[in-house]
Amino acid sequence: MQYQCPKCQSRKIIPVASANEPAVRPVVPKSLVFLIPLLFILLLLVVISIAMWLFGDGAGQTLQIATVVVFIATVIAGLLFWRDLPDFKISMQSFMQANKEWKCRDCNHQWKI
Ligand SMILES: [Zn+2]
Repeated sequence: MQYQCPKCQSRKIIPVASANEPAVRPVVPKSLVFLIPLLFILLLLVVISIAMWLFGDGAGQTLQIATVVVFIATVIAGLLFWRDLPDFKISMQSFMQANKEWKCRDCNHQWKI
């Protein structure tokens, strides 16, 4: 089982759905669905806070509270994801094994396992 393109060794491979056998999708844990947007929001809030410290009189209280709340939510989502991680790994592995046809996004090479 290889997780990279046999032609150009790129790791940017995508499963190809065949007519008789549709591509299997991995089960994405709900914690990951929350974690990713929360990380983006946290990053945005931190960037805004730093910008306000640099160019203004410091971050406002509302912004500080929002940052702390989002940080706590991110930590909780992170812990939940950590707990879901073993299941997610198994799901990803069966997903990788269930798909027999793959396509490389870099060189468009298609191959079968
Ligand atoms: Zn390739």
